Amino acid sequence: MHIRVHRETQPDQRRVALVPRTVKSLVGQGHRVSVASGAGTAAGYPDEAYTEAGADVFSGSPPEADLVVAVGPLEADDVGPARGVIAFLDPLGSPQRVAALAERGLTAFAMELIPRTTKAQAMDALSSQATSAGYEAVLLAASRLPRFLPMMMTAAGTIRPAKVLVIGAGVAGLQAIATARRLGAVVSGYDIRPAAAEQVKSLGATFVGGPVEEAAEDAGGYAGEVTEDTRRRQLEALAGHVAASDIVITTAQVPGRRAPRLITTGMIEDMKPGSVVVDLAAASGGNCEPTVAGETVVVGEVAVIGPTDLASNTAGDASEMYARNVATLIEYLVSDGQLVVDLEDEITGGCCVAHEGAIVDDRVRSALEGSS
Ligand code: NAD
Repeated sequence: MHIRVHRETQPDQRRVALVPRTVKSLVGQGHRVSVASGAGTAAGYPDEAYTEAGADVFSGSPPEADLVVAVGPLEADDVGPARGVIAFLDPLGSPQRVAALAERGLTAFAMELIPRTTKAQAMDALSSQATSAGYEAVLLAASRLPRFLPMMMTAAGTIRPAKVLVIGAGVAGLQAIATARRLGAVVSGYDIRPAAAEQVKSLGATFVGGPVEEAAEDAGGYAGEVTEDTRRRQLEALAGHVAASDIVITTAQVPGRRAPRLITTGMIEDMKPGSVVVDLAAASGGNCEPTVAGETVVVGEVAVIGPTDLASNTAGDASEMYARNVATLIEYLVSDGQLVVDLEDEITGGCCVAHEGAIVDDRVRSALEGSS
């Protein structure tokens, strides 16, 4: 099969869909791989490394391919001549994009919709990229905070450690907790799912007392939307902890929904001057009232940062993990050199959003109806 690696066009996107190591393994399995010149440069993978791995590096018009792989989101007009595409496509947020891919007759696989099951774990790009984002969120906050994170005992006196609160203890949140702990901060965490409490504690952080709900967790381990009454109790429980923290990192999300609003402007105004809030849910509406996606807003003397692509800061490793996810999906989908699209299969049917000219995912179809 001919696989083409797309050169990302989104501003500030530094990741690449396949790294030389995965290209080598795909070429070893008998695939042909073409890479757009410069596709991996920003992630630390120059053209020569792809050539050495067995790929053809091309400039100018893209060659016809069976499958185009990208980080994304990727517009139908940018795919070039191809039969299929694998990328983050934001299918529920931008169902029109999926409609355009279907209109062009492309078979499209959305990395966001890979089922979060043990069988699909090696393809789970939401988890791999959330790992990068959680780590980066702490570094971003630490570099902005006018204080040390660890306790410092020096001849010039003892400096107390910074306090970090992480709200939402999923993949990104747990990585943020682990990173803040490694840097020596005093860390606490909170999540609506009761199962998260043990995970927070196992990383050496304190679980903040607040409402937890068994019913909030679905079979896939995800949280659902909470009632207005629960949300009000959450705000009350979190207010004091937010005010006492030097850094707050929020990661609370509900798949396919707007992120829950858990921190008000008033709560941020009560934080100490110089404190930093990083809202990792910025792209899906934000957990904090003043968050603006892609910007830093200053409330009083507190910075509220709303990053939308933190994984690009560790583009080399984030791409390596993403490439492994993509290559595993390709191996899963291809049999005897042919793409096999079995929509009844849990993984294939879970992430395939367009096939044979139609949108084939009910969630995307309803999102499209809701948006028109
Ligand atoms: P996510 O990004 O959708 O959400 C992040 C966190 O926000 C979650 O822990 C969620 O519980 C929390 N949250 C949502 N609403 C909240 C609210 N109102 N208040 C406080 N917290 C709230 O989730 P994620 O990090 O991608 O994954 C969450 C869980 O999914 C994991 O902890 C795990 O149980 C499961 N998961 C399973 C697999 C697998 O089996 N392969 C892979 C990844 C995740």
